[in-house]
Amino acid sequence: MKKFLIPEEGNFYKANLHCHSTVSDGLWTPEEIKERYMSEGYSVVAYTDHDVLIPHKELAEDSFLPLTGMEVEINEDDSTAREKKSCHICMIALDEGNVTQPCYHRTKYIPPWSEEFKPLITFDENKPDFEREYTGECISRMMAEAKSEGFFVTYNHPAWSSEGYKDYSGYNNMHAMEITNYSCLFSGYNDYNEKEYDEMLRDGKRIFCIAADDNHNGNADSFGGFTMIKAESLSYKNITDALIKGHFYASQGPLIESLWFEDGKITICTKEPSDIVFTTGRRSVGRIRNSNKASFSVCPEDIYVRVTVTDKEGKHANTNAYFLDELI
Ligand SMILES: [Zn+2]
Ligand SMILES: [Zn+2]
Repeated sequence: MKKFLIPEEGNFYKANLHCHSTVSDGLWTPEEIKERYMSEGYSVVAYTDHDVLIPHKELAEDSFLPLTGMEVEINEDDSTAREKKSCHICMIALDEGNVTQPCYHRTKYIPPWSEEFKPLITFDENKPDFEREYTGECISRMMAEAKSEGFFVTYNHPAWSSEGYKDYSGYNNMHAMEITNYSCLFSGYNDYNEKEYDEMLRDGKRIFCIAADDNHNGNADSFGGFTMIKAESLSYKNITDALIKGHFYASQGPLIESLWFEDGKITICTKEPSDIVFTTGRRSVGRIRNSNKASFSVCPEDIYVRVTVTDKEGKHANTNAYFLDELI
């Protein structure tokens, strides 16, 4: 029996799950972001301004869904100096009614450009200030707190952050990591993070991968990384349910039409003929060139299977990883 890894039913919705507006250091207002993204075929934008969780419900309409989110950073030695490491995490509210900022601190961490929006933040008055420390323990605790308070948690742009395996191997409790961060790639940082994703998967982290713009600068760093979410409708609940279930793939351009598992084989169909690679977490891969359909026989020794699609321009689409016990 066919097991659809991306659901057969529903519609694909194009999403940017990481962006910055004039609420923090972005060039476009929240309204401009909506307008520009809708004109590029997007249905979903998660507004993830730096350390300011503000809903933009007023922008919602039948064909556009604004998700409430923010991006937090934990800096080595509490310094933003470029030679120091930094861990950035996006938190996206799973429930439309959830506007309470997690891991809040009453006096610290609001960047200067967001000060004017501070009065709009809602936080839990009964909770003590969350003190950040650049350690795996604190970062994992921050991810766990956001997760338990109903947020979808992603680990962002390890290359820009100067973070390596010994850093992110200690980060637990994320839902997903950014396999593509377009703004960082565009600026010259190597934030196409296939290797990092595999390293985390091989450590046993059952996490998804997303692609996002992280745009700050208008057209310059927008529309290059997106996540295609398959859901029944564009309601807030259906879209965030699909995020939690991993009903999506990440892309810089190529489109995936279907992905399923049947009789020991995983099969993918793409919109255009592409280079298709199956990765398994061990030294066993499959590669089919210039095709819009490819199958791969899964071995019992494989740890997981994920698929990378590369088009003629060298742009990638990446499926989530599926561990063997999820397939069979
Ligand atoms: Zn960031
Ligand atoms: Zn960002």
